[in-house]
Amino acid sequence: MHPRILTTQRVLIVGFGVTGASVVRYLQRHQVAFDVADECDQHVAAERAENLGCTVHSTFDATTFQRYDVLVLSPGVPRSHPAVAEAITAGVAVIGDIELFAHSVEVPVIAVTGSNGKSTVVSWIAHALQTAGIKAVACGNIGQPALDSLLGDADVYVLELSSYQLESTQSLKPLAATVLNVSDDHLDRYDDIDHYAAVKRTVFTNAQYRVVNQDDPRTWPDADSDVGDGVEERFTLSLESISESRWHRVLKDGKPWLCDDKFALLDQSELAVPGEHNAANALAVLALIEALAVPFTALKEGMISFVGLRHRTEYLGEHAGVRWYNDSKGTNVDACSKAVSAMPGPVLLIAGGLAKGADFSPLQDVVRRCVRLLVLIGQDREQIRAQLAGATQIVMADGMHEAVQICEQQADPGDVVLLSPACSSFDMFRNFEDRGEQFASAVQEVLAA
Ligand code: ADP
Repeated sequence: MHPRILTTQRVLIVGFGVTGASVVRYLQRHQVAFDVADECDQHVAAERAENLGCTVHSTFDATTFQRYDVLVLSPGVPRSHPAVAEAITAGVAVIGDIELFAHSVEVPVIAVTGSNGKSTVVSWIAHALQTAGIKAVACGNIGQPALDSLLGDADVYVLELSSYQLESTQSLKPLAATVLNVSDDHLDRYDDIDHYAAVKRTVFTNAQYRVVNQDDPRTWPDADSDVGDGVEERFTLSLESISESRWHRVLKDGKPWLCDDKFALLDQSELAVPGEHNAANALAVLALIEALAVPFTALKEGMISFVGLRHRTEYLGEHAGVRWYNDSKGTNVDACSKAVSAMPGPVLLIAGGLAKGADFSPLQDVVRRCVRLLVLIGQDREQIRAQLAGATQIVMADGMHEAVQICEQQADPGDVVLLSPACSSFDMFRNFEDRGEQFASAVQEVLAA
């Protein structure tokens, strides 16, 4: 909805976290009047009302919501919340921050969604483009909220989108879009994985250029969806010299290279980030950037110099022949599986936390093959123990410090200790960063010993 139209509407911002605050700033910039609803105590609401000069409702109430024409929903608030659902039924328009962004953005947008690898791919694209001299701004679900990023100077926005943001977005017209992969995650908020995947695939609506993971059918655009004049490019990790996918790998002198349909471009071993998942991420990066027609020669340096993000298969150091890795952002089963597979030795794995309705049995295989010891922490550790029983030796720990101590005692030279919880962190930590920091500081004690 364009801000000009919003000035004639009664607008309510629902949820006042990082995204809600960016919506406030955006609406203020466009002289759109609004109220706020946030589940908070009444003193906080009163203080905010004074600061913002608007009404602040401290509860989510169906009758209140229906007094507005438009709700701008934060991604943290589900559309299925009874007050929101009733408003939708009553005909209130319910949009998100990205819908507002779509009406104001004036340069190309590369849109990235998927269960895993979004932040890595978005940052990698921004890094490669910046290294090539292009003003690329990473925003959305990563770092800066999309609406705040509109204030800067950008040649292209690289937008990370969660399924929650996509649910409330209709008008985004990305130059290029991808669903990187789809695996079990957030099934506490969706009926099933097909529903979750279908929401992810809405990123392709109106995209000029669709980048599809050949190896993951759930990412494929629906057969009846309209390609328009768009282009579809595929990427795959399969090692085939002739591939259906424009972006794939070939073996050259026995070594895997990333290539397009004509040239072997990049020796995979030159990448600074580990694992097969990062080879897939690199192919996605190249395929998405292709929409901007930047030659590979300008990108190569940035492709190689990307060192990855904190808390994603991040190398912390080595002590007594044992290497330590922090993958606190491995918050679901597939991410954990990929991180374990990327490790350069037998693994002592620290996992556990909030399961979010996940089934951990798909980890059995990789745990049996690669994990020497599994140390479980967090609220749902009993469920994980039951679902991985017999795959490896399992012990319980009461906190991160104890988990690290157990690993230090049990690890032999050549082993790797990896934190990749396969769960979210909110039972014991503020967020995944806090969990990763606590792990890293306990590891620092080991490294300094
Ligand atoms: P997201 O933003 O989607 O959560 P990140 O880039 O932050 O993704 O990576 C989160 C975790 O997912 C990483 O720590 C790693 O364990 C795993 N991961 C990264 N890329 C992939 C991929 N392409 N496929 C599967 N897992 C991945």
